Amino acid sequence: MEEQKTEGQRLEEKLTFEIKSCWETVGENERDAIIEFAEQYKQFIDKGKTEREFNEECLSILKEEAFIDLENALLAGRRLKAGDKVYQNNRGKSLVFAVIGRASIKEGVNIVGAHIDSPRIDMKTNPLYEDGGFAIFDTHYYGGIKHYQWTTIPLAMHGVVFNKNGEKQIVRIGEDENDPVFVITDLLPHLAQDQMQKKANEFVRGEELDVLAGSEPFKDGKVKEKVKLTVLNLLNRKYGVTEENFASAEIEFVPAHRARDVGLDRSLIGAYGHDDRCCAYTAFRAALECAGSSEQGDIPEKTVVCLLTDKEEIGSMGNTGAQSRLFENFIAYLCSQTVENYSDIDLRLALNRSAMLSADVNAAYDPNFADVFDKKTASFCGKGLALSKYTGVRGKVGGSDANAEFLQRVQAILDKHGVRWQFGNLGKVDKGGGGTIAQHAANLGVDALDCGIPVLSMHAPFEVISKIDLWTAYRGYAAFLKDA
Ligand code: MN
Ligand code: MN
Repeated sequence: MEEQKTEGQRLEEKLTFEIKSCWETVGENERDAIIEFAEQYKQFIDKGKTEREFNEECLSILKEEAFIDLENALLAGRRLKAGDKVYQNNRGKSLVFAVIGRASIKEGVNIVGAHIDSPRIDMKTNPLYEDGGFAIFDTHYYGGIKHYQWTTIPLAMHGVVFNKNGEKQIVRIGEDENDPVFVITDLLPHLAQDQMQKKANEFVRGEELDVLAGSEPFKDGKVKEKVKLTVLNLLNRKYGVTEENFASAEIEFVPAHRARDVGLDRSLIGAYGHDDRCCAYTAFRAALECAGSSEQGDIPEKTVVCLLTDKEEIGSMGNTGAQSRLFENFIAYLCSQTVENYSDIDLRLALNRSAMLSADVNAAYDPNFADVFDKKTASFCGKGLALSKYTGVRGKVGGSDANAEFLQRVQAILDKHGVRWQFGNLGKVDKGGGGTIAQHAANLGVDALDCGIPVLSMHAPFEVISKIDLWTAYRGYAAFLKDA
């Protein structure tokens, strides 16, 4: 016999709002799907550890799924119709793709946008020097990192360099088990008395994040820098490059480790680059789902757009970042190939009636650092898709603030699809803050809301997310793309 509830208990149930762990209500079948989805994600991000690699992985799937190059379609004057699937690859570093819906573009499009760059250690343009019997790569860190976290862990070298014939060489060393890895050294505790007194942002300085490249001297007494020559010789033999070629190269050092399950229950995933590839991957999969299978897809009502951008970690600048006109141009292209007698007004109308989820990670509540979080509005690992009504620092400065009307609309869609959501405010007032790409779309007139997956140790070499949040984000983005 169930105990009779008191009036107060009934009223409490009716009037108060509590967010529970998503694991508590998940069935066995769905649990299997969650674990399987996490495995696919882990494999994907191990292959896509840089914006270029992630872009390439997405692109190859889009081509398999019969998406066509929008720029080629434009040049060929090809008109687009409902159900057509198009992409625009922007310099191999950012990507936008769409499934054309039944409604006119002028009705607006549904977008999920995420960024595919992550904090890392970039090689300088004239990187190689010799000191103390070592050849060393000089570096410049990228994004907001705690410098000290990047020392004494195995690093892999990824990127592109052009050889003297102008041929692009793809660099990827440190991912195969038989590859060598790279490392940034740190001072031994025995001699760190002074270092340990310094502030955390000073005890390993940005200029001290240089990477070991080798130590065996080239056997020739006439040569001044013998170890440097050894390394240059190896690079020359492998890629056909000389020292000069590094002036134009883009080489990134990223953690060499793979994505791994975390915890005895395997409910969490530890990996490099969850920010923001966990949202990029779920957005990508959700948008793909809207295209249906290659043979018989259900055509979405509104046009579905997935935007994957670069350079978010340094302000979304440049022609691959979200501040560029990539997205605006893409919508213009779609308008021009679908709207009769297309004019600029059609584009403005389309943008102003569009809706976007800016999919980016949020700081998960961390019991080790409880005092920076407001537990009532923080996001928690395992509690679903985190909705951030606003971002910014201090008095919400520089942030993007979603309208109540739009937030309500998104919540209603998620509720309708049984997608669990939670709050996602970044820390207590005046403890810090941040922002994402939402504001750049919002500036074009698009309704935009920040929402994403809670992450522990954001911007560290090994970030942690929950498998069920990954799954929930995927389901939430798909629901939004179909129904917004
Ligand atoms: Mn991010
Ligand atoms: Mn970030």
